Amino acid sequence: MNYDRILIRYGEISTKGKNRNRFINQLKLNIKESLSGFSAVKIEAGRDRMHIYLQNPEEVEGIIKRLKPIFGIQSFSPVVKTASDLTEIKEHAAKLVASLVQDQATFKVSARRADKSFPLDTNELNREISSYVLNQVDGLIVEMKNPEIELVTEVREEGVYLSAQKIPGAGGMPIGASNKASLMLSGGLDSPAAGYFMMKRGVEIEAIHFHSPPFTSEQSKQKVRKLTAQLAGYSGRIKLHIVPFTAIQQAIQKQVPENYTMTSTRRMMLRIADLIREKSGSKAIVTGESLGQVASQTLESMQAINAVTATPVLRPLVTMDKTDIIEIAKEIGTYELSILPYEDCCTIFTPAAPKTKPKLDKVAFYESFIDFDLLIDEAVNTTETEILTPNTLLNESSDEFSGLF
Ligand code: ATP
Ligand code: MG
Repeated sequence: MNYDRILIRYGEISTKGKNRNRFINQLKLNIKESLSGFSAVKIEAGRDRMHIYLQNPEEVEGIIKRLKPIFGIQSFSPVVKTASDLTEIKEHAAKLVASLVQDQATFKVSARRADKSFPLDTNELNREISSYVLNQVDGLIVEMKNPEIELVTEVREEGVYLSAQKIPGAGGMPIGASNKASLMLSGGLDSPAAGYFMMKRGVEIEAIHFHSPPFTSEQSKQKVRKLTAQLAGYSGRIKLHIVPFTAIQQAIQKQVPENYTMTSTRRMMLRIADLIREKSGSKAIVTGESLGQVASQTLESMQAINAVTATPVLRPLVTMDKTDIIEIAKEIGTYELSILPYEDCCTIFTPAAPKTKPKLDKVAFYESFIDFDLLIDEAVNTTETEILTPNTLLNESSDEFSGLF
């Protein structure tokens, strides 16, 4: 089809009062970045709608694919432009509808006439176009209520616009519109889903991962890079900080009574995450914790762990069931990666019976025998940072890993 442009509807963004312009500009920027691989497209952002003018109509499929995961888009429609001439309108309409019908489809025409000088009124337009299209295209059944194909025909002074598809967008708010947060990203199922939910609310994320070589392998690190790259499909790019955590875990193992090691480990992770967060200027920490899932995820435990910082710790999954989280992981393409069997630094050092109701004064007392400040400084200073995009790992030839996919 000879599409001329794509029309974008904003959804929630349009209800945001004074911030509206900022949201719209952010969305425009995000779309522009996401489409950077295509022929230079022009994007025009209005108060209610945005138009992407296509340079090369053949790219429409590729562009549609890129638009689907962009937050802040309610729905969008590829649009064909014709001259204000009835014969031409009818021909294009038939061609457009034909390109969308597989076998059978319910159908109606909805004409709007902004250009009152056009010789036919709305009813006449509806009648003329639908009878022509029904004649030309097989398998159509007229249906006025919720048809599968609604051919919207807008007659304007500069021309006539036809669209027959309303493709659902990802909803939510454009990433970057709500500042930035630091996601504690393990290789598990939960934290990637937590990151997804934050991005959907317009929050840009940076990821922080703790690893403990040689107890955790190169593959487990690679798995987290791959998860980050997958999440970057929503935002274009994500910064990943990889923190060496072995020395701290060993110190905890040595000094802290076994049933408190898990609590202490989490506290140290959170302290480090908070320092990295501060350096990167993000405003909150995000985890994949869900209430009651494991020993560290009781309210008592959260209280003892959370006590190391006053920074907001956001837990988007806190009330969700595991089955629902798994569904989300499948939807966002992280499930298959997360279930790969590589060990995590926490699972390796997990005690047989972690305290489910740790006491804050006790854990603080045990920790007082180690100079954690020094170890934490060292971990922060030797943290490796890289930026991942959806394509980063496609170009890498990591032999031991590529065989897994
Ligand atoms: P996940 O599925 O995200 O691994 P989980 O159910 O296994 O979560 P825990 O192991 O208790 O739960 O971890 C709770 C949260 O702590 C994780 O969701 C994540 O945000 C953070 N976390 C755990 N391990 C790491 C790690 N190695 N690096 C960074 N963050 C981590
Ligand atoms: Mg885990």
